[in-house]
Amino acid sequence: MDVMRAAFVLSPREVVVEEAALPRLGSREVLVRVKICGLCASDLKFFNGLKSYQETPYGKESPGFTGHEWAGEVVGVGPDTALVKEGDAVTPYIINSCGACKYCREGRVNLCPRKRYVHGGFAEFIKVMEENLIKLPSSISSEDACLTEPLACCLHGLRRVGLKSDDTVVIIGDGPMSLLHLMLVKRFGGKCLVVGHHGHRLALAEELGADFVLNSLETDFYAEVMRATEGYGADAVILTVNNADALTNAFRLVSKGGRVNIFAGAHPDYEFGLNTNRIHYNELVITGSADALRDDYLSALDLIRRGELKPSRIISHAFPLDRIKEAFEAAQKRLAVKVVVRP
Ligand SMILES: [Zn+2]
Ligand SMILES: [Zn+2]
Repeated sequence: MDVMRAAFVLSPREVVVEEAALPRLGSREVLVRVKICGLCASDLKFFNGLKSYQETPYGKESPGFTGHEWAGEVVGVGPDTALVKEGDAVTPYIINSCGACKYCREGRVNLCPRKRYVHGGFAEFIKVMEENLIKLPSSISSEDACLTEPLACCLHGLRRVGLKSDDTVVIIGDGPMSLLHLMLVKRFGGKCLVVGHHGHRLALAEELGADFVLNSLETDFYAEVMRATEGYGADAVILTVNNADALTNAFRLVSKGGRVNIFAGAHPDYEFGLNTNRIHYNELVITGSADALRDDYLSALDLIRRGELKPSRIISHAFPLDRIKEAFEAAQKRLAVKVVVRP
């Protein structure tokens, strides 16, 4: 039997790397050798048992577990495969949708109630339907390519919030998603202020071009944002962390006529009391964004290909597959910025 090495999460926080059967290919299925797989906040939620889907159960049914931010090379194709061939460099479009519901018909497949994700990137090989693959231009490194999905999610969020070139944007949070937002805002928007409380991440934000980095433990960031905006507040506020404090701050920091995007999911979930008059009289727009569309992936790749953005600048730690437990721990402790695994 052909075997590969793959990570399995047996129960919360118990991750092991063991042999698994190499997937067999059916019609239009493709085998990809994974070169690199990013560790996402959602992987951590599964790892910690905060989130659990039927499609990625704990145990031996989920080789490669939830890894979805990967790049690799096609090494085998099943019958009838037409879109990719052996040797192609690829990254996944991670949503499989039903194609029939109202949302799918409107092209909003990320809202499909029957959507499933392409998971399994923490393994030497992964089996994917050919329609879920995006071919990579040869000039793109696998380090940049594996961050196509998170970059596309940020792009999708900024499209939802209607980013304009003269917008002053406040990003709440200083994790990988904050830093990718920052790169996009500096490319397409105006001033960008990052509010966080991890010194090393804020230092990287400064390196990446943030106009102001505000450590919420050390500065009166409300006063700083008001000073930077002539007392008006930000045109757009992006929540890359989501809890009642962050949302309260977003409403304090946004200007009249401004927009707020709730980009991050909240775990645990919470209800929030809103002053509706503030929304009404100030004409605030509150929006959410989750996942990304295929077009967002293509736009993200195009930005990388043209050298306008280099998402791999946020990668701080890389581990071989056998040390994936350390990778999860590094991401967990927030000492890292972006952690990747190289199977
Ligand atoms: Zn992700
Ligand atoms: Zn659907």
